[in-house]
Amino acid sequence: MPLTSGSPRILLRQLRETLAEPLGSQERLDKIVDVIALNMGANVCSFYVLRDDSELELFATHGLKREAIHVTTLRLGEGLVGIIGADAKMRNLDDVTKHPSFAYRPETGEDRFNAFLGVPVLRAGQMLGVLVVQNSEKRIYSEDETEAMLTSATILAEMLSTSEFESLIKPGSDIDLRRARTIEGVGFSQGIAIGQVVLHDPRVVVTNFVADNIDFELERLNRALRSMRMSIDDILNRSDMQISSTHRDILESYRMFAHDRGWEKRIQEAIKGGLTAEAGVERVQNDTRARMLRQSDLYIRERLHDLDDLANRLLRTLTDNSASLGLVELPKNAIIISRSMGPAELLEYDKSKLVGVVLEEGAATSHVAIVARSLGLVAIGGADPAVSICENGDEIIVDGKVGVVHLRPNAEVKSVYIDKQKLSSERLAHYASLRDKPSITKDGIKITLLHNSGLLSDMKSLEETGAEGIGLFRTELQFMIASKLPRLSEQVELYKKAMDNAGDKPVVFRLLDIGGDKVVPYMRSALEENPAMGWRSLRLALDRPGLLRTQIRALLKAANGRELKILVPMVTETSEFCKTREVVKKELLRLGRMGGRVPSKIELGAMIEVPSLLFELDILLPQVDFISIGSNDLVQFLTATDRANPRVATNYDAIALPRLRAFELIVKAAKKYNMPVTMCGELASDPLEALALMAIGMTSLSMGAASIGPIKEMILSLELEPVKELIEQALKENTISMPIRELLTNYVQSQNLMVKE
Ligand code: PEP
Ligand code: MG
Repeated sequence: MPLTSGSPRILLRQLRETLAEPLGSQERLDKIVDVIALNMGANVCSFYVLRDDSELELFATHGLKREAIHVTTLRLGEGLVGIIGADAKMRNLDDVTKHPSFAYRPETGEDRFNAFLGVPVLRAGQMLGVLVVQNSEKRIYSEDETEAMLTSATILAEMLSTSEFESLIKPGSDIDLRRARTIEGVGFSQGIAIGQVVLHDPRVVVTNFVADNIDFELERLNRALRSMRMSIDDILNRSDMQISSTHRDILESYRMFAHDRGWEKRIQEAIKGGLTAEAGVERVQNDTRARMLRQSDLYIRERLHDLDDLANRLLRTLTDNSASLGLVELPKNAIIISRSMGPAELLEYDKSKLVGVVLEEGAATSHVAIVARSLGLVAIGGADPAVSICENGDEIIVDGKVGVVHLRPNAEVKSVYIDKQKLSSERLAHYASLRDKPSITKDGIKITLLHNSGLLSDMKSLEETGAEGIGLFRTELQFMIASKLPRLSEQVELYKKAMDNAGDKPVVFRLLDIGGDKVVPYMRSALEENPAMGWRSLRLALDRPGLLRTQIRALLKAANGRELKILVPMVTETSEFCKTREVVKKELLRLGRMGGRVPSKIELGAMIEVPSLLFELDILLPQVDFISIGSNDLVQFLTATDRANPRVATNYDAIALPRLRAFELIVKAAKKYNMPVTMCGELASDPLEALALMAIGMTSLSMGAASIGPIKEMILSLELEPVKELIEQALKENTISMPIRELLTNYVQSQNLMVKE
């Protein structure tokens, strides 16, 4: 192919042809820099690649001395090339030698050149390298020329991430793109998962970069934008969708960006430079990502995140890539990576292949975290910027205990974790050996250990852990997985199987607790500003008696003569509980009339998770058979902090004095009425927090199955009486002295108690 100069479009065509030629990696790079230099009439074109030791290495050049290739390097921040590598911003200078950062490298013969245009080579916002052209005369490069360089950089980035570069890499200095990365977050569940990245919202891989017909590409962009705008408006205007306020906020900012003329114009310009519509979107998206990764202001960063999500949507519209995410074939040991996710979305995946989940957002008591734990997944939240730096298929290690992600781990890290995993299986074996030991403290106090469930798949843990029953069966999970309202027969089947699996151990079925972040998309509901405090749970059930009746009917039928325990969620006033009891009574009579087998005994309990109920315990308790404390919601409402919002969810310690006093109030009232009380919120899963609860007299704890072992170990090593005295005293004090958590931690350490975080 003759190398002739020409317009950006000719350049693109030439690059495409070069990519298709059967060349070795170095030869291809040499040819690419030749093509760019000749097309742009530049004396020099050089391509620097960022290595994992933060050095930019000259990989190819037209115009500089050939001996400098793979020899010359610049540190990030050093020289103009290093500065572009560090801040990912283009530089267009008429005389580079005058720039204070100009770094002269004699081996390159660079001193003869004045004009300089350097652009970052980015992929998914990540810095891969720097592309430079230089001319001996002093001049500023035109808009067309910078456009052509940015476009060439997009193509080089794609090539760098998909081609074989092994032969060009010196031992010990791998390219940065494949660098091992560590991301810190917050552990949602214990354990270690080693597996492969599966992006929940997979990036569209653009394969066709060069436009054959610019007008056609502009029209494609136009159509895709129109259809995307319409679909966002549609979702926002639909009142039958239950959208959480966070989701709504995101959609609102999508709408704003979708109509942003500046964004549209930048994509159009990229297309006019010769790119296809999808390549144009990707180029502009690269820019957004680079800004996002640099940005420290949380608000701006989040908006850039939204813009990035929007670009993904647009790419999917353009490439018609609308595969339903949950249905994607998962590899073995899949680890899902997502910015955020609802519990129902997680439940859609094939559980047999999942081992972990990593979220950039999310809080430990959010439902997606609870579902992850109940699926036995290792989970981490707050792991920003996982989505931008992970690629599908990357090797990944998730350490749920420490709250850290190791992406593309090196051999040493991997072997440490393989050892750790072995150790943790030894620990599991140790916990298994405690299975049949009664959970009694050294001073003879019996603590009932139960576990939380909601899926048949996690019922089998009952056998493995030796728990005494299911303290909380979240019936809404069945509704969240289904694509339509589960029929009576389907509900009966689930409840029956749950009871069959539990054998003679009790199962506490909680009535439907939907709303808030537990979205059931096929059910109509009004848009709400604060869904967690809105039309949810029992409020919804009492307003839709058909739904409540069907569920109670299903439970009575499934019991088939056995004992039945039903728990009523989100009770705000005793009267609501009484109304629910009336429905149970009516259904019981109906079943009897129809000749069905009625349960041998029914116990109806109330969840204490709305603070107001604390001040009418004397009214409520005589009406109920048992109570269960939902600390996740109770702490959320006591402290006015959204449990699903990671920015505030951990601001207030759940076992700090005022919260512990609230729990104590409930325990004391329960004692007065001789009423069984269980803690079924996440608080019961943490050994130290469970210890605080035991110290105020709680003797029944329901938790994620994985926590039974560590909690039992702690109980077996414990003299509870001295801890009770310690906490009792602390709760009486009206001065701010040592926080309860610190007091307990010190105590645990001084006594060498088996309290493992
Ligand atoms: C709670 O609120 O503590 C609870 C157990 O219920 P959920 O987490 O399902 O709201
Ligand atoms: Mg709750």
